[in-house]
Amino acid sequence: MKDAFFETTPPWGFAFAGVGLDRVSGRRDNAEFLSELRARPDARFVVIARDMPILDRQTRHAFWPPALVDALGPARVEILLGLDPAGAPYFAALMPDSAVEQQADLSDGFQDRRVLVVPGRDDLELVDLRTIAWQGLVVSEVAAILGEAKAIAHWHARHSFCANCGAPSRVSAAGWRRECDVCKTQHFPRTDPVVIMLAVDGERCLLGRQARFPKGMYSALAGFLEPGESVEEAVRREILEESGIICDEVRYVASQPWPFPASLMIGCMARATTREITVDGEELEDARWFSREEVAAIFEKRHPQGILSPNRMAIAHHLLKFWLEG
Ligand SMILES: [Zn+2]
Repeated sequence: MKDAFFETTPPWGFAFAGVGLDRVSGRRDNAEFLSELRARPDARFVVIARDMPILDRQTRHAFWPPALVDALGPARVEILLGLDPAGAPYFAALMPDSAVEQQADLSDGFQDRRVLVVPGRDDLELVDLRTIAWQGLVVSEVAAILGEAKAIAHWHARHSFCANCGAPSRVSAAGWRRECDVCKTQHFPRTDPVVIMLAVDGERCLLGRQARFPKGMYSALAGFLEPGESVEEAVRREILEESGIICDEVRYVASQPWPFPASLMIGCMARATTREITVDGEELEDARWFSREEVAAIFEKRHPQGILSPNRMAIAHHLLKFWLEG
């Protein structure tokens, strides 16, 4: 059997994983504890406006004293992210949209390329998280905290009203809950599970490309988990819908928080039992089997057809590498 890779655990860390903060989730309703933290001289904020963190243009520093929040704010919401090992508190501050100005939007459907500035503050810049991770502008522990801050701030920015009765909702639990005082419903931040997987047929694996991908890029198939579905069922359904391939055995490999806007990528391998590909033509424009030799060539950027794989910030890259080296 060639199933050895189903039985090992990958060693790698991922972009946006590994937030090294104690979330102190049991103390989020303690108002006194929270105000003491907010007043500490070592309190730091990730300052988010229109889904992007504010960085120092020169140093790329991403953690700010409360003075910046107060200068640009007041914040719409402050969220306690957690305490670092020395006990210093880290918060996220969701700023009003009016704190920043959009100068251009060069987005291409794949990457957020809005040009946002803080009026009168040339020392500050707003950078989207893909760029931060792709270019390694901050170390991975910092990127993970920025991802946590962005995902929770994104939720607050779009959930000001109760989804049950429509009344304005109120922030509680240090930013980890919203309450409706009219109908008493509690609302919690969402994380959207996405399955991402390699279908494997012996010595070949299945990759596909979406029309919006950069030229030449192929990646693992992926899709949102639906209500009433197990991870294994979602993996089999997505592969079948997008490529026509039937799979039997599914194994979980690893997961990655993916703050675009608030997903959890659940990485899996699936054993294919059929070989004939039928591309759905909607989600994918192409899907193909790739041999180990081809995948090795893709990693070394010498594939004869110029085919590329996602870079190492994405779990798809690691799934492919895991299979190749497995
Ligand atoms: Zn309500």
